[in-house]
Amino acid sequence: MSSATETVDSRSAAVDIDQAARARRDQGESDSKRRISARTRNAWLICVVMIATIAAAGTTQLVASHRLAIATATERATAKGFLIAEWIAKSFDLTEYVLRDTVKRFDADELVYPSDNAGLHERKTALIIDKAASVPNLLFLGMLNANCVITHTSIGGNIGLDAQERGREYCTLAQSEPVDAFKISNMFTSVTNAMNVTASMPLLSATGQLEGFALAGLDLGFFQQWLDLVELEPHNVIAIFDLNSRLLTRKPLIASQIGQRVAEEKLNTLARSGSEALVTHRLVSPVDGIDRIWALRKIRGLPFIAVVGEETRTALGAWRQQLFLYLIGGAILCLSIVFGTREYIRNVRDAATMRELAITDTLTGLANRRHFMEAAEIALARRERTATPMTLILADLDHFKWINDNRGHATGDRVLREVASVLKDLSRKGDLAARWGGEEFVILLPGAGQGGARAFAERLRREIAALESAPGRPVTLSQGLTAWQPQDTLDDMLKRADAALYRAKREGRDRVDIE
Ligand code: GH3
Ligand code: MG
Ligand code: MG
Repeated sequence: MSSATETVDSRSAAVDIDQAARARRDQGESDSKRRISARTRNAWLICVVMIATIAAAGTTQLVASHRLAIATATERATAKGFLIAEWIAKSFDLTEYVLRDTVKRFDADELVYPSDNAGLHERKTALIIDKAASVPNLLFLGMLNANCVITHTSIGGNIGLDAQERGREYCTLAQSEPVDAFKISNMFTSVTNAMNVTASMPLLSATGQLEGFALAGLDLGFFQQWLDLVELEPHNVIAIFDLNSRLLTRKPLIASQIGQRVAEEKLNTLARSGSEALVTHRLVSPVDGIDRIWALRKIRGLPFIAVVGEETRTALGAWRQQLFLYLIGGAILCLSIVFGTREYIRNVRDAATMRELAITDTLTGLANRRHFMEAAEIALARRERTATPMTLILADLDHFKWINDNRGHATGDRVLREVASVLKDLSRKGDLAARWGGEEFVILLPGAGQGGARAFAERLRREIAALESAPGRPVTLSQGLTAWQPQDTLDDMLKRADAALYRAKREGRDRVDIE
């Protein structure tokens, strides 16, 4: 048996509840908070990773389908360009055939001016007129000798004209290597402002010398007439350029641009290139400012480039729809994930709060009796294994009824809260303080022997007595303390502590008794 005046033994300095002990207790409290905030952090992390994954997958998919849409439009433009190029090349095949046939009908010695055989010259001229009539869009057909003097022509005039002297391009072209080829001149503008080209076919000697050539003048106006027949989707373009990048024809027609040189790098490069035949690229048209996917194809054997432009906007129409759906779908998905995460976090917090409420006394914030019983049984079982001392204290406020009756129930409640707060402050991590019921408290001190527990109880007693929460009367606490003894159950300890408490009451209150 001990009294409040008894000197306190061990627990001394270290046991004296100090700042470090409080910090440790706070640590214990914040452990669960840290667990919750870790789960919160992880949930948000997963949320961010999911959203990033969705964004990455969506972007990858969109980039791929964008590429596919551009590739498809490029292919379409390329195929159209090929057809148009072949179509134009074929249209010159007829001219080539007629010129070849014409040349065959002439001997080199017939290509003299003036002719020494008027009858023969007339017959050959008739033949030429005949041939000229077999090719549509032919402006004229004629024969020239090796010196580039016109000897026969389908249109009557210019006989005897020395084209070489006049510096006509087709002379230089026909005389240039290889002399045995069918050749088309660059486009030139006639006096009537029509766009013309000439085609020539050589007459060769047995040794391959140039002895003369047949020459045809062609009006390129038929390009435009042909293009007028072609069906074209709005904003798509078909155009034909010569090798000087001059626009020969275009659908839809922009009359002011016809014959103009277009300064566009890819076109200019392809026109100059000797090897390249096809170029595809994306470009805002310098002619009408519309973004298109272009295929530029050189027409085989001819000094022309067929150009097909597919409007990018139309080509990307389906992709745009996909983009829109992805954005909407992605936004819905991401919002669901965000809301789901928030809901999850709320549940985690609610569950933690519920758990906390289930084991906590609402007035004082201490553990409740049920939680104490569970925790104390566990501590007792653990003590069995570690064989360390353990102490139990039952504490009861003295004359609490008086406080309630004279200072009001609210003051009584405040006293209970303040007492609990002192108890919390003095407890270390591992100590178990709970509200036993009414104005009674229970404290289990695992690891503390009788001496240490006594020091604790005395400290508690003093700190409670120092409270000034009930004006006019000090608040005091009686405590019954018991140390664990072999074979003890929790009930045994509680009974002994209760007996000690009873004695403390009986012997004057505001004291600690040991049983
Ligand atoms: P003793 O020194 O013998 O312990 O006297 P006491 O007045 O403290 O003992 P008693 O058992 O007669 O009175 C306890 C009082 O505590 C009665 C009860 O109304 C009051 N009480 C119990 N729980 C609460 C509570 O939560 N709030 C308040 N304000 N009072 C409470
Ligand atoms: Mg009581
Ligand atoms: Mg009491």
